[in-house]
Amino acid sequence: MTAARPRVVVAGLGDTGLLVAIHLSGRADVVGISSKPGLVSGQELGLRLARPREWVRDYWVSFDRYRKLDAVSTVHGSLLAADLDAKQVRVADADGSERLEPYDVLVIATGVSNGFWRQPDLQTRDQVDAALTGAHERLGSSATVVVIGGGAAAVSSALNIATTWPDKQVDLYFPGERALPQHHGKVWDKLSKQLTALGVGLHPGHRAVVPDGFGCDEITAGEVAWSTGQDPVTADAVLWTIGRVRPNTGWLPAELLDEDGFVRVDEHLRVPGRDDVYAIGDVAASDPLRNSARSRADAMLASNVLAGLNGGVLKTFKPAVRRWGSVVGVQKNALEVFTPTGQSFKIPAWSALQPLIVWRGIYKGVRKG
Ligand SMILES: Cc1cc2nc3c(=O)[nH]c(=O)nc-3n(C[C@H](O)[C@H](O)[C@H](O)COP(=O)(O)OP(=O)(O)OC[C@H]3O[C@@H](n4cnc5c(N)ncnc54)[C@H](O)[C@@H]3O)c2cc1C
Repeated sequence: MTAARPRVVVAGLGDTGLLVAIHLSGRADVVGISSKPGLVSGQELGLRLARPREWVRDYWVSFDRYRKLDAVSTVHGSLLAADLDAKQVRVADADGSERLEPYDVLVIATGVSNGFWRQPDLQTRDQVDAALTGAHERLGSSATVVVIGGGAAAVSSALNIATTWPDKQVDLYFPGERALPQHHGKVWDKLSKQLTALGVGLHPGHRAVVPDGFGCDEITAGEVAWSTGQDPVTADAVLWTIGRVRPNTGWLPAELLDEDGFVRVDEHLRVPGRDDVYAIGDVAASDPLRNSARSRADAMLASNVLAGLNGGVLKTFKPAVRRWGSVVGVQKNALEVFTPTGQSFKIPAWSALQPLIVWRGIYKGVRKG
């Protein structure tokens, strides 16, 4: 008789949960629970808004296309609660019925909510498609676009809207002297020149007044006021990319969370005092930038889960101190990646290399859509 394999529940199959499930596939009985019917990534907002057909190839992929998920049981539903002593989570299935999923190890990867493009609500394929198309058409029909915020989502949106629709007036308003404050200064130096060349108006020192009760979760129209004293501006479309993230942890007991609602983890991405619970990605309070997704800790976390079950040695997470990676996505069929020290390199011929680098290299095999 063979011993039963450990049962690992991965809560949230977004960018990081999906990769953890892939690494554990075949090495444990893995159950992945997701409110979306596939990977619907929060990455590359600008590309998603301006050129959604291109974005979909990498970032909206149904689970049945990932070869390594053939051995993983995926559940389309919403996590409602976790009972840590009973070692089980409660899930509302897409059809409305509730079920309990027991685990030996729980991996929390439910990410954060941010703007209209990153919400944890249960969605069907049609609803995902309709949301993508709706935002694209909304921007397409606007002659003037104001983008508010200084992070990667804002910069990427301004640049991609300007390259896709050169006739629009696009303006980027951000509170600091420069945008991308968490990246190396060289990144903004380079991208601000590109934005200016595209005719995007750059407006430092502007902090927008967020209307009472507005969750920044839709594209608005009309006036924007500034708490920094400047005159209000108006636009046909206003994009609120102000980084107001909220952890998707309402389903978890408070004992797991820090004062901001993120999941507390130690240097192994394991929850202190709970040897059978780990967290990764934007939901995990691993370091000030919550960098475990970007720093690709997914393979390390999978290895730690197996080591923890087998009495092995756990690896230590080493976060990058600055943000890095792609900011504006693929441009003219090349992907530019910025390093933490502000250098950049371009991967050319992206459409030819993408299946090798992403589908084979990162996801270990993806069937054609
Ligand atoms: C391969 C890779 C490359 C990256 N490259 C870059 C880069 O170049 N530049 C950069 O800045 N960053 C990069 N990142 C990081 C990225 O910006 C984010 O940090 C990443 O998208 C966060 O992933 P996540 O899994 O934590 O969250 P998400 O991808 O948001 O996943 C969370 C999932 O959980 C679901 N969920 C939430 N609540 C529930 C619930 N109650 N029930 C069921 N499901 C729920 C959500 O719907 C979502 O599907 C990269 C990450 C990866 C993995």
